[in-house]
Amino acid sequence: MIDTLRELVSIESPSLEKKPTDRCCEFLADLWLERGATVGIVKNEKRGNHLRVVWNPPAPPKSQLFVLGHYDTVYPTGTLAKMPFRVDSGKAYGPGTFDMKGGIVQALFALAAIRELHLAVEKRVVFLWTSDEEIGSTTSRGLIEEEARRSEAVFVLEPSLGPRGMLKTSRKGVGEAQIIVHGRASHAGLAPEKGVNAIHELAAQIERIEKWNDLRRGVSINADVVTGGSRTSVIADRAEATLDLRAWKESDMRALEKRLHALKAVHRGAKLEIRGGFDRPPLERKHSAALFARAKSIAQTLGFSLSEAAAGGGSDGNFTAALGVPTLDGMGAVGDGAHATYEHVVAAAMPQRAALLAQLLAGS
Ligand SMILES: [Zn+2]
Repeated sequence: MIDTLRELVSIESPSLEKKPTDRCCEFLADLWLERGATVGIVKNEKRGNHLRVVWNPPAPPKSQLFVLGHYDTVYPTGTLAKMPFRVDSGKAYGPGTFDMKGGIVQALFALAAIRELHLAVEKRVVFLWTSDEEIGSTTSRGLIEEEARRSEAVFVLEPSLGPRGMLKTSRKGVGEAQIIVHGRASHAGLAPEKGVNAIHELAAQIERIEKWNDLRRGVSINADVVTGGSRTSVIADRAEATLDLRAWKESDMRALEKRLHALKAVHRGAKLEIRGGFDRPPLERKHSAALFARAKSIAQTLGFSLSEAAAGGGSDGNFTAALGVPTLDGMGAVGDGAHATYEHVVAAAMPQRAALLAQLLAGS
C-alpha cells in the first residue's frame, strides 16, 4: 500500500493545473484496470479529467454502492521537491497523502481484497475520483449527484479525524457571499461633502454581520477578504467583502442568507449589492447514523474501535447526503496535517481501513 501511495503522490495533481492532473488520472485508471475494474475517463475541459470506475459482481446487480473521493490536491507543481514523499516512524509524509490519496489507495486495496477473498458483494460498486474538490467541485458536482441518486449508500474516502481516526457523521453547510458597496468618489480635501465613502459603509456592515455569529449554535459568518478604494485623497467609491458562511442546519443556513440579503445601507447615498449564499448543504447526522453503526460493529470484529465526530468543513459528502442518500464520510486515511507541510498518514491504519471498507461493501 505504501509503494502504491508513493507512486500516486509522486504524480502531482494540483486542482488548478490540468496537464499534470490528467497524468495522475491516467495513472489511477491503470491501477484500477489492473485490478479487474472497468474504467471510464470523464473528459473535463478546464480542470483535470474525472475517473469513474465500475466493479460489477458476478451476478447481475440490482442496486449500486458509491465510493467517492477526489485525487486533486492543494499543492502546486513543484511542491514535491520541498516536501518529498518519505516514510518515517510508521508515518508516510507527502503532499496529498492524507487529503486524500491515502484514501484512494485504501479503496483500491479494498477492491483487491473483495476479489481475492471472493467476498460476496452483490451490488455494483461505482468509484468516482474527481479532480476539483479542493476548488469547490464546480465541474464534478453534477456527476456526483447523478451517481448518488442511483446509489443505496455513499462512502466518502476523505480523511478521518484525529489520531484515532474518527469518522465524520456530520458536516457543516458551507457558503460564500459578497457584500459590494457602491459609493461616490470625491476629492477628500476639496469636496468631502460630495463623496459617499464605500469603505466606511462596508465597515459598518461588517460590524453588523459580526454580531450574527452564534458559535454555540454553529453558525458562523466571517469576512475573509476585503478590498476597496483607489488611492489616498479620493473618497472610496467601491468596497467589497467576501464572506465565509457556515451552519449545521439547513434552517440556519436559510435564515442567515435571508438576513444577509436584507441588509440596508447605513450611509446616505451608499448602495449595497449582495451576492452568493450557501452552496454546500450540511451533512446531517440522520443520513449517516445507520451506516456508522454498521461500520462501528465491523471495526470491532476487525479489532479496533471506531468513534464519530462532527466536522466544520464541507466535502462532496454534503452533496450526496443532501439528496437523502445515506452517506458515511471520513472513511479515508488516519493521519494529520491536511494542506500543511507535515501532511501524513499512519501506515498501520491503512490495511485496517481498507478492510473496513471491503466489509461495508460486502455487507451492504
Ligand atoms: Zn479532501
